[in-house]
Amino acid sequence: MPNKETYCSVCYKTKLSKNEIAVCKKILGRKIVNFFCMECFADYLELTVEELEMKIEDFKNQGCQLFK
Ligand SMILES: [Zn+2]
Repeated sequence: MPNKETYCSVCYKTKLSKNEIAVCKKILGRKIVNFFCMECFADYLELTVEELEMKIEDFKNQGCQLFK
């Protein structure tokens, strides 16, 4: 994974975690340039952070390569 400085495009939080980056790519597409932190992405998807974390666990359990 290229290690460009990624930041949340809503709140500008920097140093997004691997999970935050991976879940944005998984849901929005691998070529996206704007990323979201967990809080803003959950808000964007109209989910709670807990629900988004559960989705991440689901993706991991499915063996999604983005979460390796
Ligand atoms: Zn944010």
